[in-house]
Amino acid sequence: MTTFQQDMAMDSYHHLGFATRAIHAGQEADPATGATIVPIYATSTYTQAAPGDHKGYEYSRSGNPTRTALETCLAALEGAEMGLAFASGLAATNATLASLLKPGDEILANADLYGGTFRILDKVYKPWGLEPRYTEDGSAAGFASMVTPKTKMIWVETPTNPMLQIIDIEAVAEVAKKAGAVLVVDNTFASPYLQQPLHLGADLVLHSTTKYLGGHSDVVGGCVVGKKDLVTKVKFHQNASGGTPGPFDCYLTLRGVKTLALRMEKHCQSARHLADWLAHHPQVEAVYYPGLKGHPGHALAKKQMRDFGGMVSMRVKGGKAATMKFLTHTKLFSLAESLGGVESLVNHPATMTHASIPADIRLKRGVDDGLIRLSVGIEDVADLQDDLEKALSVL
Ligand SMILES: *Cc1c(COP(=O)(O)O)cnc(C)c1O
Repeated sequence: MTTFQQDMAMDSYHHLGFATRAIHAGQEADPATGATIVPIYATSTYTQAAPGDHKGYEYSRSGNPTRTALETCLAALEGAEMGLAFASGLAATNATLASLLKPGDEILANADLYGGTFRILDKVYKPWGLEPRYTEDGSAAGFASMVTPKTKMIWVETPTNPMLQIIDIEAVAEVAKKAGAVLVVDNTFASPYLQQPLHLGADLVLHSTTKYLGGHSDVVGGCVVGKKDLVTKVKFHQNASGGTPGPFDCYLTLRGVKTLALRMEKHCQSARHLADWLAHHPQVEAVYYPGLKGHPGHALAKKQMRDFGGMVSMRVKGGKAATMKFLTHTKLFSLAESLGGVESLVNHPATMTHASIPADIRLKRGVDDGLIRLSVGIEDVADLQDDLEKALSVL
């Protein structure tokens, strides 16, 4: 039933623009009451007319109408055949790894990776028998050189977190295809508004919907969308193991998704302005933002993304002491983990989001004590610039 509804949605929505899909896909008026907005179906179970005679739902671990609406919408936004919502991004990662790989398989990933993804690969799946390998060289040739007959999955994050490198999805998809490996793209940093990896040859797209999709820092969630045969395998695992989101969480995420297009426009506009300004600031040592002409991934980002995103990483002059001072002197930019919300955040990857990566590996990737990551929100950009200027002025 879930799959059938999603197929219907794909047929009726694929011709519509992104913002229209975000507001309407999977979100028809409620058939029971006419409610215009998808209701929060707070129920764990569903009454049957006779054993097996039900309306497509039996038990909410297996399926829930609020969740179906969200899954349909997320699939429509990425141009996917099928989508699954999860209790968190890492629950989505976990089900994807466990359902598509087995002990003895190798997974190849770019080295600059979300800390939690590295942790689950290294501390959970490596002891389980999976062999994770990381490439520092994010080019297609870099990936190709590390492929072996045991490589069954390639995992790519682009733009990468926190160094904001850009990986060529189309070229890596060719490598994966040749290797007979599944290409998964963690599209959390870009959001489907800026980048749709399935159209570039990826097999699956994963999101932490906690970030831009939810967009308001009030709900944790994740999703996997993509080819039906693969997503069906992940769904079997999800139903067998749990990890499903509740209907309240699905409602909040759906509510956030409705304004994704508008929010992303503003995130990108303000991030580009601040990155330009920071790059010329005398107290700033380095700025990492794919929208800057000097960024090594600029041309590629221009090709595979609609815009350059709302994340900016940077270094201030004066080493660790100055960095710590900066981190504690912003007011609008809250010092916090996470990203992608309407409010601006500042983060110290080495001790916060990426602390779970061993120091030697982290340092090799440039994630040292001097690195600062900004999630640029949608406040007035003049106020954001003023806030950063004040914090820079005390260094
Ligand atoms: C936050 C994040 C995740 C993990 O998602 P959770 O919702 O926190 O479980 C995965 N990938 C990236 C790029 C992230 O930023």
